[in-house]
Amino acid sequence: MPLTFDFDNSYAALPDAFFATQMPTAVHGPELLAFNEDLAHLLRIHAGTPAEMAEVFGGNRLPEGAAPIAQLYAGHQFGTFNPQLGDGRAILLGEVVDRDGQRRDIQLKGSGPTPFSRMGDGRAWLGPVLREYVVSEAMHALGIPTTRALAAVATGETVYREAALPGAVLTRVARSHLRVGTFQVFAARRQTAHLRRLTDYAIARHYPQAEGPMGLLRAVRDAQAKLIAAWMSVGFIHGVMNTDNVSIAGETIDYGPCAFLDTYHPDTVFSSIDRGGRYAYSNQPDIAVWNLAQLATALIHQLDDPAAAVEEATEIVHAMPALIEAALLNRYREKLGLTDARDGDARLVDDLLDRMTTQQADFTNTFRAIGTPAARDQFTDPAAYDAWARDWQARIGDMPDAQARIRAANPALIPRNHRIEQMIQAAVTGDLAPFHRLCAALRAPFDPAPDTADLAHPPTPDEVVPATFCGT
Ligand code: AMP
Ligand code: MG
Repeated sequence: MPLTFDFDNSYAALPDAFFATQMPTAVHGPELLAFNEDLAHLLRIHAGTPAEMAEVFGGNRLPEGAAPIAQLYAGHQFGTFNPQLGDGRAILLGEVVDRDGQRRDIQLKGSGPTPFSRMGDGRAWLGPVLREYVVSEAMHALGIPTTRALAAVATGETVYREAALPGAVLTRVARSHLRVGTFQVFAARRQTAHLRRLTDYAIARHYPQAEGPMGLLRAVRDAQAKLIAAWMSVGFIHGVMNTDNVSIAGETIDYGPCAFLDTYHPDTVFSSIDRGGRYAYSNQPDIAVWNLAQLATALIHQLDDPAAAVEEATEIVHAMPALIEAALLNRYREKLGLTDARDGDARLVDDLLDRMTTQQADFTNTFRAIGTPAARDQFTDPAAYDAWARDWQARIGDMPDAQARIRAANPALIPRNHRIEQMIQAAVTGDLAPFHRLCAALRAPFDPAPDTADLAHPPTPDEVVPATFCGT
């Protein structure tokens, strides 16, 4: 049986101004590198032969029922508004409704130029494609809302970045590709009818219970607040939280210069282009609020009484910091094995994080080991942990199942940046074994197989990757 999709396309039925019809550009030597069978099953996609899948996921052959389009959007990039971005190297093949009744986009990323490519070549190189594949699937296994990776194909073509690099195409799956920037483009152009149409579409697709633009704003706020708290709780740094990379559905999207903390420090930045630290680890809650304010500003343009709406929108946005903080505190309570909320919990968490900062403790390994002797080994001066552990012990009391809860709330495995870099280096030489090994190990982050112990180690000094390049 050939590779088949049960497409049911809704975005392509929106007004022409929302997108450009665009075929993927064929590549010379498509070769299937990875195919996510579990995800394909969820999407009711029937797998084909590797050659057939390479053709389809490389963009050389359009599957039946596809309606290929590049979506229009705008966005604030590092705080500066860019009135037109759009899918410069991504093409939405179409949508399917999965086994859970969830509508999902199937998009090729790196599939050639579109009318929105500006100066870009429309392509991606192998490194970022495999990074996104590994990290997005790892996020999914961690239980964090995210776009997913269905396939990776090598193009057999060269892509020119800081060097000549092998090209690749990622097939990305998302609840939608609606972004804050999708609203911004119509607001900036004063295209009120389009803005209303988009708002109705977003509500129907993602938040059918939401009432009107302000109801949508509230729903996006709640989803984003939970998402940011989830990121923080695993030490994830997105790296490029521009408004075009903020999903209305509340999924993590666009894995460019993202990375996970090894040693804990709130000011950590990995992205080589983030010189001011705008998207530093601990800045993510503030930036999420700033991004929501941009959505509020865009949504207000469609209202008959904008002045009244400003007040409501302000109230919605102003409530977000406390929502993120509360969601994050709950995450930390779980990470510490606590089952109830008490005054003083925030102080207990902050005290631990302060000590981890000065003691250069590994974020993931410290939390995984809370309450065991291994935790103190994470601290340069173990006495700094012991002092905190006495307070924690007093708080948690005599809870026999605390260790099991801590292990269920704290992953042993995260996609560590040095492992990702090593995996990419191997892949460039044609060795995909580290890629497949990472994918397999990160499927069970809370319950790791014994032969994955090395993947839990923080980088040795010469393995540390100081910056992740955005040259995607
Ligand atoms: P990003 O920073 O990856 O979210 O991308 C920002 C914008 O640049 C989006 O509109 C992308 O489609 C576009 N873009 C990024 N890389 C390329 C490329 N190689 N060719 C064309 N457009 C690109
Ligand atoms: Mg983007």
